[in-house]
Amino acid sequence: MNEFDPHVAGNDKDKELDGIIRPHELTDFTGQSEIVSNLEIYIKASKMRGEALDHVLFHGPPGLGKTTLAHIIANEMGVGMKITSGPVLNKPGDLAGLLTSLDSGDVLFIDEIHRLSPEVEEYLYSAMEDYVIDIMIDKGPGARSVRINLNPFTLVGATTRSGLLTAPLRDRFGINFALEYYDTEELVKIVKRNSLILKIGVDDDAATEIALRSRGTPRICNFLLKRVRDFAQVVGDGHIDLKISKYALDKLNIDKRGLTAIDNKILRTIITNFRGGPVGATTIATSISEDQGTFEEVYEPFLIKEGFIARTQRGRIATEKAYEHLGLEAEMPRKDDSGTGSLF
Ligand code: ADP
Repeated sequence: MNEFDPHVAGNDKDKELDGIIRPHELTDFTGQSEIVSNLEIYIKASKMRGEALDHVLFHGPPGLGKTTLAHIIANEMGVGMKITSGPVLNKPGDLAGLLTSLDSGDVLFIDEIHRLSPEVEEYLYSAMEDYVIDIMIDKGPGARSVRINLNPFTLVGATTRSGLLTAPLRDRFGINFALEYYDTEELVKIVKRNSLILKIGVDDDAATEIALRSRGTPRICNFLLKRVRDFAQVVGDGHIDLKISKYALDKLNIDKRGLTAIDNKILRTIITNFRGGPVGATTIATSISEDQGTFEEVYEPFLIKEGFIARTQRGRIATEKAYEHLGLEAEMPRKDDSGTGSLF
């Protein structure tokens, strides 16, 4: 089946296409205006001082532009960048190798930084703070540690789970940005920009349709544009109009509010299996055969942002909007956790 899964689309690393459409400068980057304008100032200031930019932490759901902004920082600073991720750095030695290879001012990008092992994380502290690391030489009784000075560098960390970062690590980032979901207007801009780059004709209403169904996420927007382009080429005449985009998006099982089959399954589960909630994240994840992390990082933030589910102290509840969306009626009045006694 041609099932669309935002989790899979979120991991869709079409390197060739990505390289072409990824914005390379702050002025090309659509949306996140506050982050962009602040970054511009911080980059200018550190260039004027001739210093490395302070360490930067980006957090927010997958596909919103954290990696893209890391590339832009390196590009705008005119420095090199090394890329790694939390789970890849198994031992301090892996990190030491990377850190000692950095030139002055370079960016070290660590994706999924919340997944660093405690041992590696601790090793990072002195590197971030004083640009030094201690390396153990030899083993056993003859073991001794040697201090190595590093070139000044900028650590850019990205995480989908800022709540899992330890306070000592979080505190070592001088710059901390939360990325927000994009609004339709911004996503339309992205669709149009990318369709120009890819030389695909897209009507305005078709671009809006794609944007509306992109879960506020540029990566999904790009994924859908590619898939709609396939349909336009094979079923239509190559041009993307409203009819072909609706046809393609329906084939991908994305409904008019941008919800996928899995989103709808989550809502239906909360409503029919748990009488609308409250129900815990683990239970929901198990019921839909997903792991809890994926539920909390990929599905839940969008459903909360769009007002389909709400978080209470005792768990998640389906909102009135969720009932309406699925064409279901609330069985009986429920009290939510806010103590207001309101139905929703
Ligand atoms: P993250 O690191 O947050 O998961 P990425 O930076 O990898 O997300 O972005 C995913 C895709 O979306 C990339 O292909 C990138 O080109 C595109 N993208 C992200 N943000 C923007 C933006 N603001 N404007 C245009 N394209 C964007």
